[in-house]
Amino acid sequence: MKLFRIRDESGRVVYAAEVDGALRLVEGDPLGVWEVTGRKAVATKVLAPLDPPAIFAIGRNYRAHAEETDSPVPEHPVVFAKAITSVIATGDSVVLPAAGGNCVDYEAELAVVIGTTCRDVPAADAREVILGYTVANDVSARDWQKALGQWVRAKSFDTFCPLGPCIQTDLDPFDVRVTSTLNGKVMQDARTSEMIFPVDCLLEFLSADLTLRAGTVLLTGTPSGVGVARTPQVFLRPGDTITCFVEGIGELANPVVAAARTHG
Ligand code: MG
Repeated sequence: MKLFRIRDESGRVVYAAEVDGALRLVEGDPLGVWEVTGRKAVATKVLAPLDPPAIFAIGRNYRAHAEETDSPVPEHPVVFAKAITSVIATGDSVVLPAAGGNCVDYEAELAVVIGTTCRDVPAADAREVILGYTVANDVSARDWQKALGQWVRAKSFDTFCPLGPCIQTDLDPFDVRVTSTLNGKVMQDARTSEMIFPVDCLLEFLSADLTLRAGTVLLTGTPSGVGVARTPQVFLRPGDTITCFVEGIGELANPVVAAARTHG
């Protein structure tokens, strides 16, 4: 089932489920007790599918991407975090930061939405704590990623975490197609079966001795085809539209704009 977080006609923020092509109002909280009602819902805007309490992400989880960036294939999942304030919805603009917007790159990713606060989750039980899946774009300022040696700032600028368009609660995450297109041109095209560490293993690794609150989002890594690894390199420019897609979930499309000001 696809769960959308929307602003409805009266301006309220509600969840709605897609049933037979129509949106039906959800009562309750998808991170707790909820049910789909028979009442019709009308979206005036599709919002980011949730406001996560934490965002974790995995680097180099596809062999071809590790190779294209001249990075070793990791022995353990490479875990980093993104600021929760970087989340935007489909249709919202990615703003190239004033503090360095010349080398901003896209990364299409399958993202896991944790439904139940959990810790020490064995891979075999991963399904029990997952509410569903969404599409993420792990937008990355490559110059800051390189200059600082770790990635949090480079991946946390405002608007650097497009999420959406919905939470798909019925996805088999182990073999679905992941793509990105830039202004209609395919840049990334892979399957999640190519992941070095699949979703259940990532969850076991990440949750060991670490509490994941309900609503935490985990970005599972990006396939090859990112802009920094291309010849010539491709970075996001004002006027572009970057679209990320995961089979079974949908499309996450974001225009790109320049910052309204510049830093010296
Ligand atoms: Mg990434």
